[in-house]
Amino acid sequence: MQQPYRTAEEWVVMTISLLGAVSISPFMAIRVMQGDWLIALLDAVAIFAMLTIFFFVRVRRQTSLMSHVLALVCALALLGTIELRGSEQVFWAYPAVLAVFFLLRPWLALPYVVVTLLLIFPVLLDDMPLTRLAGFYLTISATVGFTFVFALRMRQQQQMLLQLATTDALTGAGNRRALEEQLLEAVAQYRRAPLSMSLILLDLDNFKNFNDKYGHEEGDVILQKVTDIIRQRIRRTDKVFRFGGEEFVILACNTGLQEAGNLAEALRKEVACANISRETVTISLGVAEYQGNETGFEWLGHADKAMYQAKASGRNSLCLYQ
Ligand code: GH3
Ligand code: MG
Ligand code: MG
Repeated sequence: MQQPYRTAEEWVVMTISLLGAVSISPFMAIRVMQGDWLIALLDAVAIFAMLTIFFFVRVRRQTSLMSHVLALVCALALLGTIELRGSEQVFWAYPAVLAVFFLLRPWLALPYVVVTLLLIFPVLLDDMPLTRLAGFYLTISATVGFTFVFALRMRQQQQMLLQLATTDALTGAGNRRALEEQLLEAVAQYRRAPLSMSLILLDLDNFKNFNDKYGHEEGDVILQKVTDIIRQRIRRTDKVFRFGGEEFVILACNTGLQEAGNLAEALRKEVACANISRETVTISLGVAEYQGNETGFEWLGHADKAMYQAKASGRNSLCLYQ
């Protein structure tokens, strides 16, 4: 299933490819008027490649592959234009470097631009006075250095923001937004390779009483301890989310209904036996396997239904949706 909105990466690739095509166009027109057919052809190829990339991202949404292709087009266009017209074209190196850092991860972009700048060196050496050549490599190195540091910083901040936006602050489990994204992802993955997978929805029993009796802070500690128990029990490939106030969801990949039921039962017992609070804490759980023809939200609804049946049957129990 595709994301309904465009990602930042899609916007970057679409903007660079379109801007690239638009900014090369007047140069192509000038070359045509001058009868400089070879470089006009190179410009035409670059424009065509960029518009094709724009199309593939806008319509097909193949962003990751197209980022790499566009970075390659930028590097080849720079190499081609300098090869054909020599150092008069060297100013294109600046936007090409920036574009590559926008498109690739900083640690991939860095060697990429360094190699490109080394490849144009022999032509520039032939064609440029040494002082200008030194000036060019000094200024382009400074540009590469600043852009690299900036790109690294941006990436760290992006990861931090993503972490904040998808994590529950109290328990460190994934939050509801993360759960929704993972459900979409899991269903899309199932369509590519159908491996059984299950959801366990668990809810603390009579939790309001704990808060009323011992205070909200003690309630918070209970939520953290239950999360720790879940984390220790589940596999590395399973994921846990805090779905609501005292409700958690476990996404167990490569796990059928019975196996997920066993995990749920183990969790139920462990929470009931653990020394979590002054009174015994218990949970009720609902388990649902993905049926193959439902949306992620319908699947979650089945686990919720099973959980409510477990509540109705007296709490501290589990129910399988079948
Ligand atoms: P049931 O067995 O039917 O689930 O009963 P319950 O009391 O657990 O359910 P109910 O929905 O009536 O109450 C949920 C309580 O969870 C109410 C609220 O005070 C508490 N809660 C929700 N979020 C938090 C939180 O972040 N911290 C604490 N301490 N309590 C929370
Ligand atoms: Mg509850
Ligand atoms: Mg609840």
